[in-house]
Amino acid sequence: MRFWETTALKDMTSEQWESLCDGCGKCCLNKIIDDETEELYYTNAACHLLDDDSCQCRRYPERFNYVPECTVISLENLPELNWLPDSCAYRRLFVGRDLPSWHPLITGSKEAMHLAGMSVKAKTVNEMKVRYLDDNIVLWPLQDVD
Ligand code: SF4
Ligand code: SF4
Repeated sequence: MRFWETTALKDMTSEQWESLCDGCGKCCLNKIIDDETEELYYTNAACHLLDDDSCQCRRYPERFNYVPECTVISLENLPELNWLPDSCAYRRLFVGRDLPSWHPLITGSKEAMHLAGMSVKAKTVNEMKVRYLDDNIVLWPLQDVD
């Protein structure tokens, strides 16, 4: 049931919308935006609630109590979230692309995503241990594989 190929984002049920998230964890990385050029840089410094092994939030239901700035991705704010990685399922569908071959909705698990290097698994450091974000700029979150 490849519902994302037949159902527009705006017509998806909340369950379908939620299932689009591959759980890569990239959106939980700290990012830097250059004030002058507006260029976006990813760092490997992850939100302190992110589990680097499962790539999941340790306090997802109550995360806003701990991280008020955490973002809920919705149909309304999706066009503005230009910091989402190219590999993000929401971004892919929003710009007219398909889901990648490694997406959990297609493979049935997160394994292929991890193997393709498309998640943050075992690649992050806790933001609490980072002094200067600039020192932690990385390029791997920008990679995208179909
Ligand atoms: S980057 Fe997109 S697909 Fe990956 S965890 Fe965040 S919202 Fe989900
Ligand atoms: S609070 Fe949870 S979902 Fe939000 S950025 Fe942190 S780890 Fe990610």
